[in-house]
Amino acid sequence: MNKKEQIWLGLFCVLPVIGAKALADSIAPNDNMKLLYAAMFGGFATLIGYGIYYTTKNRSNSIRAISLALVIGALTTTVVVASNNSYPQTCHVCGYKAIEKGDPTCGYCYEEVSEERMKEKGYNSLSELVYARQLYVFYQDSLEQVDFYKPEVSEEGFQKNKDWKPLITREDLRDVHEELKAEK
Ligand SMILES: [Zn+2]
Repeated sequence: MNKKEQIWLGLFCVLPVIGAKALADSIAPNDNMKLLYAAMFGGFATLIGYGIYYTTKNRSNSIRAISLALVIGALTTTVVVASNNSYPQTCHVCGYKAIEKGDPTCGYCYEEVSEERMKEKGYNSLSELVYARQLYVFYQDSLEQVDFYKPEVSEEGFQKNKDWKPLITREDLRDVHEELKAEK
């Protein structure tokens, strides 16, 4: 096998494996399953990659490049769709992956972020609703206790989504403290 063929084979096999790893990361419920999924999808991806490499072996470079681009496109789409539709979904309010299929209420903070709830509470946008509920959910007696990303795993076993970002800041919570103090 010459150098050029090795590169083609490498591309056709390695890229699907990277995609498989990303897919496993986005849909596996925990770290152990990630490894299992990655191994499973990775094996499958290598087979497909090799299959396409083999069938386009005697084709022109441009046809092989197009096949490769299609593989990458399909993989990217799969990963994006899978990560958007995989459950449990992340709660916008608390950031825990605690929203199960068919139930909009968060299993951790019991908040529900929906158009319906927004209207019911009199907010003009979903972010207004999330902001207000975050002030409520993250309120602690002392500001030192506030950590938006801790615990990483809740007592109930819900995982914090590290990509989630709270809309409120510690300063906002401090303001709430001041207001409550003034009222007393
Ligand atoms: Zn929540």
